[in-house]
Amino acid sequence: MRLPGGILRGGSLRRDFAFRPLTGAVELALAEVAGVDSPLPTKVTAALAATLEHVGGEPPLPATVADLSVGDRQFLMGRLAVGLGLGESWLTARCGRCGERFDFSVNHVDLPVKEAGEEYPFAEVETSLGPCRFRVPTGADQEILAGLDDEAFRCLVGRCLVSRMGDELPPFTPDDVARIEAALEAVAPEVSVSVQAACPACGASHVIDTDPYRALPLQSEGRLLQEIHILAATYHWGEAEILALPLERRRHYLELIDRARGMAR
Ligand SMILES: [Zn+2]
Repeated sequence: MRLPGGILRGGSLRRDFAFRPLTGAVELALAEVAGVDSPLPTKVTAALAATLEHVGGEPPLPATVADLSVGDRQFLMGRLAVGLGLGESWLTARCGRCGERFDFSVNHVDLPVKEAGEEYPFAEVETSLGPCRFRVPTGADQEILAGLDDEAFRCLVGRCLVSRMGDELPPFTPDDVARIEAALEAVAPEVSVSVQAACPACGASHVIDTDPYRALPLQSEGRLLQEIHILAATYHWGEAEILALPLERRRHYLELIDRARGMAR
């Protein structure tokens, strides 16, 4: 599996990546990140830095992970969710036509992924000030922008302008800005973050947003600690040993314990 965008190094794109084996220790690190009170882009950077083995052949330093395009980061968070057994999830929506609430399942592996365009990570845009070169937005941009409101988009345009002179943002017209946005969207990799679902009561079709970062809120430190407690109490293993177990193995042992309890009842 390869990144839909990639990291530019020495003129070529590196698109390979690998996650660390998803042991309890990695899950615990992720749960800790999820519980910290920081803006979402910062959490995503910390989550990827804690769970990746490498990205583009480089260690997943926070700065490297923050420099990935937004689409690549969403793609990686989606793969992480699948690795954690969250590939399929149930969502609830309320029908806008008949008001009925309904549940539907989403298989996140099936959501389409758009690969980056030829020029990625750059886009040449013909503006009213002449041709300008931009790069696609990254996690680092999102981290900076998280604290801004109205000025956020203009700030983003300024940050993504590659060939700029001085600190002042050139006087781009609204038309320029629209063209810049469209050009960057065309070249950026993208993970689909919405699904179509029909209301079972009236048949109305709805487009419903899914959460590309769902691996974050679903990680609960409390649940993991409880699982450690059950395994420690049953098998008398140490915390470090339990945390070293791959996710699948831990779940398997918990299932065995659960079954044994059921039989004892
Ligand atoms: Zn309906």
